[in-house]
Amino acid sequence: MDKYFDVLIIGGGPAGLSAALSLVRGNKKVLLLDEGVGRNFPAAHMMNFLTREGTPPQEFRKLALNELEEYENFSLMKVLVDSLVGEDKYFVANGNLKGKKVLLAHGIRDQLPEIPGARELFGKSIFHCPYCHGYEYRNKAIGIMANEQIAQHLAPLIWGLSQNLVLFSNGLEITHHEAFKKKGIRIVEEKIEKFRHQGEKLEGVILTSGEFVELDALFLRPSLEFTSTIGLDLGCRVNSSGLYETDSMLMTSVNGVYAAGDIVEVRQSVVASCASGSFAGASINLALSREEFYGS
Ligand SMILES: Cc1cc2nc3c(=O)[nH]c(=O)nc-3n(C[C@H](O)[C@H](O)[C@H](O)COP(=O)(O)OP(=O)(O)OC[C@H]3O[C@@H](n4cnc5c(N)ncnc54)[C@H](O)[C@@H]3O)c2cc1C
Repeated sequence: MDKYFDVLIIGGGPAGLSAALSLVRGNKKVLLLDEGVGRNFPAAHMMNFLTREGTPPQEFRKLALNELEEYENFSLMKVLVDSLVGEDKYFVANGNLKGKKVLLAHGIRDQLPEIPGARELFGKSIFHCPYCHGYEYRNKAIGIMANEQIAQHLAPLIWGLSQNLVLFSNGLEITHHEAFKKKGIRIVEEKIEKFRHQGEKLEGVILTSGEFVELDALFLRPSLEFTSTIGLDLGCRVNSSGLYETDSMLMTSVNGVYAAGDIVEVRQSVVASCASGSFAGASINLALSREEFYGS
């Protein structure tokens, strides 16, 4: 395989795939480097994306790759990128893959609480996003596990789906609970011992006192971390939300390195990642086209 490309895209999720499409349609030579583990892979289906409601996440990627492989300037390598350096006129990934520009689209990883059952149930009956999974649980017994600030954001959204709602602060004090109480939401400040489940189906939570609270689903807000430090190692700055700092063209603080998808978006979803990937691809195409046309 040729080692020289116009653009190296690191990450083949919705953002990287959409960027690749804009770039190959600009007739740029693209190498997509992807380890192949998407953030939404724990879920059986993706939702909130018109024309693709209920599509398994892996199937969505397969469909996208089938379309990209029709373009002669598109190449895919199933690999983890563990080194990225700037050298002369190129960025070099994994020691020998060279691109004039780089798009970081490596996504983020959800850090779940250390409660037995949380990891197994995440994406199955423990969720983080009401748009991805809430509708299927309307009028069912739903829990929210959150601190006060996050609960204030999530509770109105979930209450609109089901009024059979319990708020678990998991050991944290909830001080401003008048609004929750007025809506009849039970507040449990005791810690959760574990999640009880049958396979992938949540049955409820067991509190440290031994009390069992029956639930069909639970929403929480995992803390997030980048799946890779390659951009940080290169010197790309992050903003106050912990995401890559970018300019209006989605270029990071390192000249020639762009970022898209969950690593730049506060509103994280497949459709938002597709949009930012598509835009980043067009931005890179514009920069390369200008350099080729005017010289640089
Ligand atoms: C359980 C769950 C369910 C969800 N359901 C929905 C839903 O129904 N609808 C919706 O709109 N959104 C959903 N989301 C959110 C959605 O998954 C993300 O917003 C979206 O996948 C982000 O796309 P992305 O391209 O930025 O990153 P990702 O989809 O995470 O893709 C990143 C890719 O980069 C690769 N990668 C990472 N590091 C490297 C490296 N160093 N070298 C090479 N490759 C690398 C990864 O393997 C992966 O393939 C869900 C999220 C979760 C956690």
